[in-house]
Amino acid sequence: MPNAKAYSAANATSPLASTTITRRDPTEQDVQIEILFCGICHSDLHQVRNEWSGVMPTVYPCVPGHEIVGRVTKVGSAVGKFKVGDLAAVGCMVDSDGTCPECKVGLEQFCPNGTLTYNFPDKHLGGVTYGGYSESIVVNQRFVLHVPANLNLAGVAPLLCAGITTYSPMRHWNVTKGKKVGVVGLGGLGHMGVKFAHALGAHVVVFTTSANKKNDAMRLGADEVVLSKNADEMKTHAGSFDFILDAVSADHDISAYINLLRRDGNITLVGAPEKPLAVAAFGLIMGRRSLSGSPIGGIAETQEMLDFCGKHDITSDVEVIPIQKVNEAYERLLKADVKYRFSIDMASLKSE
Ligand code: NAP
Ligand code: ZN
Repeated sequence: MPNAKAYSAANATSPLASTTITRRDPTEQDVQIEILFCGICHSDLHQVRNEWSGVMPTVYPCVPGHEIVGRVTKVGSAVGKFKVGDLAAVGCMVDSDGTCPECKVGLEQFCPNGTLTYNFPDKHLGGVTYGGYSESIVVNQRFVLHVPANLNLAGVAPLLCAGITTYSPMRHWNVTKGKKVGVVGLGGLGHMGVKFAHALGAHVVVFTTSANKKNDAMRLGADEVVLSKNADEMKTHAGSFDFILDAVSADHDISAYINLLRRDGNITLVGAPEKPLAVAAFGLIMGRRSLSGSPIGGIAETQEMLDFCGKHDITSDVEVIPIQKVNEAYERLLKADVKYRFSIDMASLKSE
């Protein structure tokens, strides 16, 4: 079985470091991919540091990374969807049972027997799955996506998680022209949310804690920007939003945003902070407002999102880094200091 260079964390407190992992030989349904770029999602940081221990405890060593784009280097005998040399992408899932009611309607993200790209039991090799901070990966063709040829690859990688995680709830909650849409937290997810809401024709308002992101927010497609620490600015939007996407990675006052929804408005949480958030009941009761969550998106919808990006020329704004800077990048994520996604150039692994 082939070896692959990778970066892994040995425990919740140690930095990521160079390692070698084993990948399986492609089975007949598999696609082997040379990874060119992998985005850094805040989920990688939560997972590496075991911040989600109550829901999905981290198994070490952990090789994170679920925003993967690369080139096909080998295909199994039954693979019709890809050939050697094709561009290919992989997101947060690498398998599902394909037979449950969720899979049957293309919602693999809800399959009770699904396999996530890292830190999930590996049916082929035992142990857990290893993610995209690596030079290669082998994935069942059902979970490999086609990449539009016109897009910059470093900026495509983040679409595989930040992209689909923001696109999917916007489609589900019918974000269209004429709707007033808020995006809370201008990070990796948030900046993609702004691009999609704008492309779908909505009036977009960004809520940020970072005054220095105001100009960027407008450039990315916002119609208005609110500094969320300013109570007066917040008040001017009371009761006015059809939909708000909350993409904040840390503890914050979600009730303040619930109060900005109009009657029957919805706020969807995609951010997954370590600690529970406090929700004031009356904020929801008055106005029949709703609070939801949403995980990534199904495979068909992920392809739809990539094709939408190809058509509208949408990619993530990235800071490309060598893998040797990954630990520094994690520290910067914690300070909300990224514009707006780190994308690891995997060629940098060759020198390890
Ligand atoms: P990120 O790039 O670090 O962005 C998070 C943003 O949240 C920051 O840029 C900042 O925006 C804001 N923020 C950070 N700390 C804050 C605080 N204390 N109070 C208020 N705002 C704060 O993270 P990301 O990769 O976009 O991920 C965001 C969250 O989504 C993470 O929890 C991640 O695990 C989760 N996630 C969920 C899914 C899913 O399927 N649901 C998928 C991927 C990621 P401003 O500077 O604008 O305030
Ligand atoms: Zn992610």
